[in-house]
Amino acid sequence: MDFETDVVRGRSKPDPTTGAIIPPVYQTATYVLEEIGRDKGFDYTRSSNPTRQDLEEHIAAIEGGRFAVSFSSGMASSDSCMKLLKQGDHVISCDDVYGGTSRLFNKLMTNYGIEFTYVDSQDASKVEEAIRPETKMVWIETPTNPLLKVTDLEAVGKIAEENSLLYVVDTTFATPVFLRPLEFGADIVLHSTTKYLSGHNQLIGGVVVTNREDLYESLKFIQKSVGAVSSPFDCWLTILGLKTLHVRMERHWENAEKIAAYLESHPKVERVTYPGLESHPMHEVAKAQMSGFSGMISFELKGGLEAGKKLMNSVELCLLAESLGAVETMITHPATMTHAEVPREERLARGFGDGLVRLSVGIENVDDLIADLDQAFDKV
Ligand code: PLP
Repeated sequence: MDFETDVVRGRSKPDPTTGAIIPPVYQTATYVLEEIGRDKGFDYTRSSNPTRQDLEEHIAAIEGGRFAVSFSSGMASSDSCMKLLKQGDHVISCDDVYGGTSRLFNKLMTNYGIEFTYVDSQDASKVEEAIRPETKMVWIETPTNPLLKVTDLEAVGKIAEENSLLYVVDTTFATPVFLRPLEFGADIVLHSTTKYLSGHNQLIGGVVVTNREDLYESLKFIQKSVGAVSSPFDCWLTILGLKTLHVRMERHWENAEKIAAYLESHPKVERVTYPGLESHPMHEVAKAQMSGFSGMISFELKGGLEAGKKLMNSVELCLLAESLGAVETMITHPATMTHAEVPREERLARGFGDGLVRLSVGIENVDDLIADLDQAFDKV
């Protein structure tokens, strides 16, 4: 099936009893057995649920993977990947990751004897240099939140394969419309479905996708044991969101390209980071591995923090909010919002200044968005 068809149709069929074109929400905790040892494939919703199964098959299809496991949040997905490890294991992570991910790694997982080394994986050799005998996993986010760093997935994939390391890639920012890491050797692809996959700021969710049956079995076991499952209703809402993913992503990208160009030529802007711009240090790699550049932009104003704050407090159409990847344009101050718990020295060391502004470009009329930014810049 072609990608667009998979996005719209997934693997579900019209409901066999009623013909309902949209699968029903199986809002149930429990399933009645026909007799001891005989059920209809479901017994208890923490273990499995038809609506969740529908979503998992849908996402696996569009990610080009065999299996997907859905969780109650992106962070629950990340936590479940961590549970594939054990005490004494070492993880090499890219240095720029979502603030919640670094909180999970540095403030929780380290309590369980997991160690982390952070490298700028835009230079793949840094990943190789960080390998130790106890290294078990490479964790890559690409493009990263918030600096939009891009990792050459194939180059890191080779290193992971040669060293038998579990290779996890969080591509929440790119979505399978623009990037499918399994094609570059990833063992596990992770998404916060809160963002583009559901797309309408309507829920919190996460998913992991893999081609490896052993990993699928382990992740299913973790899902059932821990119970951080997405509710049937949230799964259903995610399915509805997914059906327009390719169309939304094209428009996010189209709008973001225009806004990135506008920002790059603006006299009050110091620096713009967008993988689709030729000025992005990894533009060539991004172009080779992605088929589009999504809606995420970060930039810094001349005048740093004060100027950035003034801009973010002056927008009217763009919404000052924590999240990203929805149809509405959202503007964020990562240093005090999404990454508030990342120590300042650590942020500065990875090139993430106090004045950084993150823009999640939505699918509104782009001229309206530029007019809004224009009036906000006038107040800076
Ligand atoms: N991964 C990335 C790249 C994110 O940006 C986020 C949240 O912003 C997460 C994971 C965590 O997802 P959630 O908020 O659904 O738990």
